[in-house]
Amino acid sequence: MAKQVIRDDQPRVYFDCNKCPAYCCSVYDRVQVTKRDITRLAKHFGISFETARRRYTKDYKGERVLKRVEDKIFEETCMFLDQETRGCTIYHGRPGVCREYPARTRCAYYDLLRFERIQQGDETAIPLVQITYHEVKKAEVKTDQWREKVWEWEPEKKR
Ligand code: SF4
Ligand code: SF4
Repeated sequence: MAKQVIRDDQPRVYFDCNKCPAYCCSVYDRVQVTKRDITRLAKHFGISFETARRRYTKDYKGERVLKRVEDKIFEETCMFLDQETRGCTIYHGRPGVCREYPARTRCAYYDLLRFERIQQGDETAIPLVQITYHEVKKAEVKTDQWREKVWEWEPEKKR
């Protein structure tokens, strides 16, 4: 039997995807796929590159992304999410961005999930959070003493 090696430099993470309703698979409109990702998908399903591209991906403002479907919890989610278990059905064939996310030791949504569940005393609570991106522009701020460039929020557009 192979010995298991535990190294000190293995990063510790402070989130557990098994206890999360797969927020990250659901709220992002774009799960970007590269040619390498489509090749991996094709191999995973034993189909051609072209078929995988057509069947599982779509164009989103000039980039190739995974297709999405209606979701039971969030508005939409990735077509590869199992909506009962909230797990990825193509784990070994998933795209690179899914492998990297959240690319740090903490996940902001998981922190919120833990906070709300403890706060409400309900381990089934699911906070619904929408991410909204605002355009920012560079502005110059001047006083008598100094001058610097800062990013400023664009005012909310009236609907
Ligand atoms: S939102 Fe965070 S905790 Fe939830 S599945 Fe994604 S990475 Fe894991
Ligand atoms: S491929 Fe899997 S990990 Fe990636 S968004 Fe879809 S369900 Fe989530």
